[in-house]
Amino acid sequence: MSRFWSAKVNELTPYVPGEQPKVSNLIKLNTNENPYGPSPKVLEALKAEATDTLRLYPDPNAEQLKQTLANYYNLATNQIFVGNGSDEVLAHTFLGLLKQDKPLFYPDITYSFYPVYCGLYDIEYANQPLTESFEIDLTTYSTENGGVIFPNPNAPTGRVLPLTEIEQLLKRNTNTVVVVDEAYIDFGGESAISLVNNYPNLLVIQTLSKSRSLAGLRVGFAVGSPELIDGLERVKNSFNSYPLDRFAISGAVAAIEDQAYFEQTCKAITDSRNILVEELQQLKFEVLPSSANFVFAKHTERDASELAAKLREQSIIVRHFKQQRIQNYIRISIGTNEECQALVRALKGILA
Ligand SMILES: *Cc1c(COP(=O)(O)O)cnc(C)c1O
Repeated sequence: MSRFWSAKVNELTPYVPGEQPKVSNLIKLNTNENPYGPSPKVLEALKAEATDTLRLYPDPNAEQLKQTLANYYNLATNQIFVGNGSDEVLAHTFLGLLKQDKPLFYPDITYSFYPVYCGLYDIEYANQPLTESFEIDLTTYSTENGGVIFPNPNAPTGRVLPLTEIEQLLKRNTNTVVVVDEAYIDFGGESAISLVNNYPNLLVIQTLSKSRSLAGLRVGFAVGSPELIDGLERVKNSFNSYPLDRFAISGAVAAIEDQAYFEQTCKAITDSRNILVEELQQLKFEVLPSSANFVFAKHTERDASELAAKLREQSIIVRHFKQQRIQNYIRISIGTNEECQALVRALKGILA
């Protein structure tokens, strides 16, 4: 609290991101970053951008990136919005599309940034509980709402919804915006981008932070009808004309264009995930079925916060959430095979 802050700032509850430790000798499995570096073509593109032209502003519309994404998804550039990480795209979406007279619907267990945006923009919301087995049940999202948002796969559970269930929601819910946050879709699951031409109220948000190994570059995008995208552009152009710098635009273009590298690294991660799940089960963890680059697991006997603390002592960081319903779980990002093996070895020692 400060008397110099506005009343609004005094009442905020900001998001707390996972730890970014200053020391480098840690096995970092806490923020769902990609264990592999970005495509070598991205690094080349970034080097080529380090020239005198940095004195000039970047393209405020990032046309080159929008065109690359439009080609990739076989859409038009006016169906694409780009921002400084998908967190920024989400922020503009909450203000521009989801702030309505009726409450916004999202799951009780989900990405913990959603309530933060609701607080920032004074958006009323109504949590929709996950089922006992931590699945999103979209049939409960059919009553009157000011909008709907959920991640698919969900965070931090990793569980995915089939596209058919999302399409059924879109058929029922035609009067408000439905946002699918696909931060993890490339690790399993079918993207709803294939539906945007049929449903003018569908917005799909993706990021280059996870499957494209570019958390440090800050690029996210949204795909939807020109009407929704235009709404987001109006917010963006009332906030920051240049959210993507020259590096971000060039690096993102190179990342989208390197399909082979993308497929190879996604496969390495899902392969490691499948091995890790089996090993965790052998160590008496209950692991939710994951379609993401992390697993959400509960030990049948041991306390989750204690396990996380003991792993930390051995320089392995995982994420533990104190929230009710999930306080017995730890979320483990999928690392390289070597990192996953180090985790399993450490757990064996702790559980012995
Ligand atoms: C990581 C994540 C984001 C944010 O990604 P950035 O593009 O790095 O801002 C958004 N939504 C979910 C569900 C995420 O897990």
